[in-house]
Amino acid sequence: MRITFLGPPGSGKGTQAERLSNEFKIPHIATGDILRNSIRKDTPIGKRVKSYLEKGTLVPDDIILELLLAKLEELENFLLDGFPRTLHQAERLEKTIPIDIVVLFQISESTIISRLTQRRICPSCSKVYNLTTDQPKVNEICDKCGTSLIIREDDCEATVRKRLKVYKEETFPLIEYYSKKCVLKYLDAEGDSNIVYQRIKQLLLKNDSFEV
Ligand code: AMP
Repeated sequence: MRITFLGPPGSGKGTQAERLSNEFKIPHIATGDILRNSIRKDTPIGKRVKSYLEKGTLVPDDIILELLLAKLEELENFLLDGFPRTLHQAERLEKTIPIDIVVLFQISESTIISRLTQRRICPSCSKVYNLTTDQPKVNEICDKCGTSLIIREDDCEATVRKRLKVYKEETFPLIEYYSKKCVLKYLDAEGDSNIVYQRIKQLLLKNDSFEV
């Protein structure tokens, strides 16, 4: 089963993917987390991508494809979050590893802005929190590994608006692309995270190829 979560930044893809991955033991591959780890470790890839993440623009396709395709070819099942993000990435992926289900997270821009400005992440294990709806047990400390939480550099309002613009320009065409392939499922991503998770499970369990 090869699933991808498609949707704007802040629509909850990462949180829901982590939960689904834990429950159904599907490897969760988040390109944003992979890139942020490379930057933190100051690897050659990290050095090349840093400025794109800071500006809120997309990393060039050739870097992303090189990073991802070899990894995905080794896996029978996976859950992608944040990839593909351009038509070119989707077409390259389709050539080698066709996707079975694409879940499109639908959410308003005002919810996105408020969610992202409240978001905190653990720089060590990448767990995501929200200061209003999903707080850590101890103030600004990760429940899982005890590291101090941080605000993602690209979660300031100006960069969030830039990322939304990039999403509309670069990623929107994927909706039509996957719709034509009849693999697109629409998800109402507004509201409580537990309810959204139940909606995702309903969508996936209706699909014959989703095995549990
Ligand atoms: P995310 O954590 O998914 O919001 O991604 C954070 C940032 O990583 C994006 O704003 C891009 O700069 C970069 N990024 C993540 N995935 C991709 C991708 N598939 N293609 C290009 N850039 C990406």
